[in-house]
Amino acid sequence: MKIEVEGIVIKQTPYKEKDAMISLLTKNGMVSFLAHNVLSLSSKYRSSCLPFTYSIFTLNSKLDKLSLSQAKIIKSYMHFYNSLESLTSINLVNECICKFIDEDNTYLFEFLKNYLELLDRGFDEITLTAIMIAQIVKNSGYDLEYNSCVKCSNKKNIVGISYTHGGFVCKNCFDNQTLKKSKEYLKTFRYLFMIPPDKMAHYVIDSSIGFSLIEEFCSYLSTSFGLKEIKALEMYKNSKK
Ligand SMILES: [Zn+2]
Repeated sequence: MKIEVEGIVIKQTPYKEKDAMISLLTKNGMVSFLAHNVLSLSSKYRSSCLPFTYSIFTLNSKLDKLSLSQAKIIKSYMHFYNSLESLTSINLVNECICKFIDEDNTYLFEFLKNYLELLDRGFDEITLTAIMIAQIVKNSGYDLEYNSCVKCSNKKNIVGISYTHGGFVCKNCFDNQTLKKSKEYLKTFRYLFMIPPDKMAHYVIDSSIGFSLIEEFCSYLSTSFGLKEIKALEMYKNSKK
């Protein structure tokens, strides 16, 4: 049986000599399949299976195993490999999707698609990266509270964020586990979680707030999942120096 799937390649794992397991994010969740000979320079589907390529794949389905039959590129973002800013951002987003998102997630596809497209059009990279990492937090199973105080549900007098308690904290509940934050910081935090995928280019956030939130979210995710680090974060941070 043949099936057709449309998706963005997020992982390519070499297998045997020139074969690879390809993982895609699609609107129906993640799909993985084996692509024979795809790592060979002569393979005609080589470029459609590269990470961050948006393609339509025709797959053979046999005994629950999927393998590549044909592929056609919808959009290639290969030129991102030549821009340090884009490359370090997509590597970070990609590692976070691979490590923190369930295979059956259907929510992130539109975000990833629009993120790549807007990055390509030159929209503010920090805003886009911060939205992606916030949306990954939201879908990781460790969502944070950004509508009211996580301890008492008060919607007023929000003064800080506590990653230990899990979100916004009000003036009355402020404790030594809470980081005091400016109004703009708190507003930006909420914006990143609330924005729908079709409005990602609505607003450019302050870059130092955005950068600091990306670091906080990454550290929150690695702590929640018991990981030592997110490898791509260091490279992302270095690219900003
Ligand atoms: Zn409170």
